[in-house]
Order: sequence, then structure tokens, then C-alpha cells
Amino acid sequence: MNLLIIRLIIFAVLFFAGLKLYRMYREWKLDREELLESDDARQEGGQMVRCSWCKVHVPESDALRDQGEWFCSSAHLDRYIQEQQEERPEEKE
Ligand SMILES: [Zn+2]
Repeated sequence: MNLLIIRLIIFAVLFFAGLKLYRMYREWKLDREELLESDDARQEGGQMVRCSWCKVHVPESDALRDQGEWFCSSAHLDRYIQEQQEERPEEKE
């Protein structure tokens, strides 16, 4: 019978410890989500870049960067580089 009581006490302690940890985790997670949301809001405020090919403004996180220029897609990056090569034939000679 003694062993059963000890087991019950251990279960109770584990249960309350788990509950406390779960509550701490939830609070920590909520704090973290709030921080992330405010970070996102700050980033969306200023970080817009312009595609060098089509002149459309896109968020920096969606844009591609090459040779100091920003592009909305890899297709426009390719076309921009192609056009630059066509504009400078003297370099080939
Ligand atoms: Zn573009």
C-alpha cells in the first residue's frame, strides 16, 4: 500500500509541474508572438525595393538582389542582365 501512495504523490507532483511548465510555455509563446508581430510591422514599413526591370515596388523579402540591383523575379533579373549585355557591345571587342 505504501508504494501506491508514493506513486500517487509522484504522479500528482509531475502533473502540477507539467501544468506549471505548460502555463509558462504559453506565456512565453504569447510574448514571442507579440514580439514577432511588431517586428513584421516594422519591416513592412520601410523595406520596399524597386525592380530594375519593370520598376514595380516589392517587399525586400520577396525581391532578388544582383549586382547592387533589385528585381521582383528571376525572370526580370535575367532580362535585365541580357539587356545590359546588349547595350555594351564595345566590351566584347
Ligand atoms: Zn520586375
